[in-house]
Amino acid sequence: MDKIEQLQKIFDESNRIVFFTGAGVSTESGIPDFRSVDGLYNQKYRYPPERIISHSFFRDNVEEFYRFYKDRMVYPLARPNAAHKKMAEFEAAGKCIGVVTQNIDGLHTVAGSKNVYEVHGTINKNYCTKCHRFYSLDEIMAKDGVPYCDDCGAVIKPDVVLYEEGLDDLTVSGAIRAISQADCLVITGTSLVVYPAAGFVNYFNGKYLVVINLSSTSSDSSADLVVHGKVGEVLSQIKVNA
Ligand code: NAD
Repeated sequence: MDKIEQLQKIFDESNRIVFFTGAGVSTESGIPDFRSVDGLYNQKYRYPPERIISHSFFRDNVEEFYRFYKDRMVYPLARPNAAHKKMAEFEAAGKCIGVVTQNIDGLHTVAGSKNVYEVHGTINKNYCTKCHRFYSLDEIMAKDGVPYCDDCGAVIKPDVVLYEEGLDDLTVSGAIRAISQADCLVITGTSLVVYPAAGFVNYFNGKYLVVINLSSTSSDSSADLVVHGKVGEVLSQIKVNA
């Protein structure tokens, strides 16, 4: 049996699938990841990206932060690819209980997934740091450079988790609950090096652990099936059999 047939069999036998996703799930939508050879960490900026997208950098260098953020982290024209769509299809068929994502691009939701745990937040929500007024992505992109609140004039901050910031408790507990209830966990498009999110996969106690990733991950050795390839290409060969 080839890997796609093995994967199909695992999906057919599973009824509480959870997808744990990272930036690699959106590269086929044209959004660069961080750690691939053409990812953001291998391009040259004035400061290393992990420094720019930190809480202290946002506080001290908000102009530089927004230059990088608007240019490199936000892709308003990106659309869900075959991977996002297949995951949504599994949920609609009653076979997937959640998507736990480290991505901030919101594409799982656009694809139609309902139970999405965005553990690093989303570019689609933005709040004034003083009066907490909500702003959409379009509103902050329409403002030149640093977006300031129309009501109180304070800086608006994207609701994404920056380095040095904690994760939202409710989102984390929902994500961990979903993973611990899953009968099949699919880890995909992630280097599994960003903690604490990467540690959530350790709560899996179900039957099938699957990794679909371009490069090797620390979960490969414990997985029941490892598919090294592009997740959109892989999942487009899979049928959702209820
Ligand atoms: P990462 O860049 O560290 O790792 C991406 C992984 O995906 C790599 O192992 C790579 O081999 C694999 N990959 C790339 N394209 C793939 C494809 N088409 N199919 C299968 N695998 C593929 O990403 P990470 O582990 O998610 O950590 C980066 C952090 O940066 C995350 O916390 C996330 O919040 C953030 N980030 C988000 C986005 C986004 O929202 N789209 C983009 C870049 C970074």
